[in-house]
Amino acid sequence: MQQAQSLRIYKFGGASVKDAAAIRNLSRIVRAYGGPGPLVVVVSAMGKTTNALEELYQLAHAGQDYAAPLARLGAFHQAVAADLALAADLLTDLLTQLEDRLATLLPADFDRQYDQVVSFGELLATRIVAGALQARWLDCRPLIRTDHTWREGRLDWPTTERLLRAALPAAVLAEGPVVTQGFVGGTASGATTTLGREGSDFTAAILAYCLGAGSVTIWKDVAGLLNADPKIFPDTVRYPEISYQETIEMAYYGASVIHPKTIKPLAVRGIPLLVKSFLEPDAEGTRIHDCRHGLLVPAFIRKTEQCLVSFESKELDFISEENLEVIFGALAQVRLKIRLMQNSAISFSVCTDFSAYRLQRLLELLRGQFTIHYNTGLELYTIKNYDAASIRRLTAGRELLLEQRTRQTFQFVCRGGAG
Ligand code: ASP
Ligand code: MG
Repeated sequence: MQQAQSLRIYKFGGASVKDAAAIRNLSRIVRAYGGPGPLVVVVSAMGKTTNALEELYQLAHAGQDYAAPLARLGAFHQAVAADLALAADLLTDLLTQLEDRLATLLPADFDRQYDQVVSFGELLATRIVAGALQARWLDCRPLIRTDHTWREGRLDWPTTERLLRAALPAAVLAEGPVVTQGFVGGTASGATTTLGREGSDFTAAILAYCLGAGSVTIWKDVAGLLNADPKIFPDTVRYPEISYQETIEMAYYGASVIHPKTIKPLAVRGIPLLVKSFLEPDAEGTRIHDCRHGLLVPAFIRKTEQCLVSFESKELDFISEENLEVIFGALAQVRLKIRLMQNSAISFSVCTDFSAYRLQRLLELLRGQFTIHYNTGLELYTIKNYDAASIRRLTAGRELLLEQRTRQTFQFVCRGGAG
């Protein structure tokens, strides 16, 4: 148990492994900060590889020619491996498996096959990183056990904990760093699943929870947890420390810094999460843990590609609990997540992430019973820990289609593209 207490989990996202130079930097960080004691390194797909695999998969699934993008993807990974002086055949088996998968796609089962294909980004990246670190490569698909919810596998925690502990006992961890994939898991029957886009953070938390780690560090291209995305808002502020609770709420509202499912398992076992910059590894970063703090500076969160759907009962009845039950049931069935909702006497509105396919299915389910209007191309802004000045700053010049305020949070929906 003492051994397990000092286990560290490092998670490196796509930007931190985007090319050979980035992987050399990762190696320096692991050498300089990763010890003493056991270390598990969780790695995402390189750079934008997951997007490239999604596009490749869509072509293949539609029966279109995908030879050129497949060759590009293979050549890119081979070139990085060669640049790092790794064995020439390091990736051969994985690239052959990917090719076979794409060649044998079935017309149905889009989501299931998506997982079988898109998971290769992490498999390839971890082979390369394990090679560069001369560390043990671990295929986590038989260990991170999920159900059959393709593209959003739900975790079987007790089984995963048992499998991980058996695969990585203290004696194995003591032999040196282990490198494994973020984002992927597997079902009891051996099919690959994925945990949802950007799910590698969650993998790091799963490993930490199951193996009783002492800490998790997420290495990012920003200085820590900031009060806004610096690509969208100028003058951001870093939180030196912040509670699990605050972080969960920020992730829930759509702050993209940490995958929303990451925090809970860490909070349950009291494992601190450090967010640090791989560009400035000596800088302090952010410590997310069980702490109390005074009032925090307002956090600004923007979600794009939102859609506002409103339902009116056809008989102009009031929106009743029975109506809501039907609407919620349909939203859950088509897997549209509610980001904000509001009801008035005869109508009920929800803001959700836009998906043409899911929205269409929702309309099919509910058109008979409700008159439905929707608006797409919207943005949802959330200000957490708002004050009057922060609301003025964000709402100036915008037409608000829906707004809501609680004690800590101010949210509104407006048309996109206003900058
Ligand atoms: N590679 C996956 C993605 O881009 C998972 C991750 O990066 O966390 O969504
Ligand atoms: Mg990523």
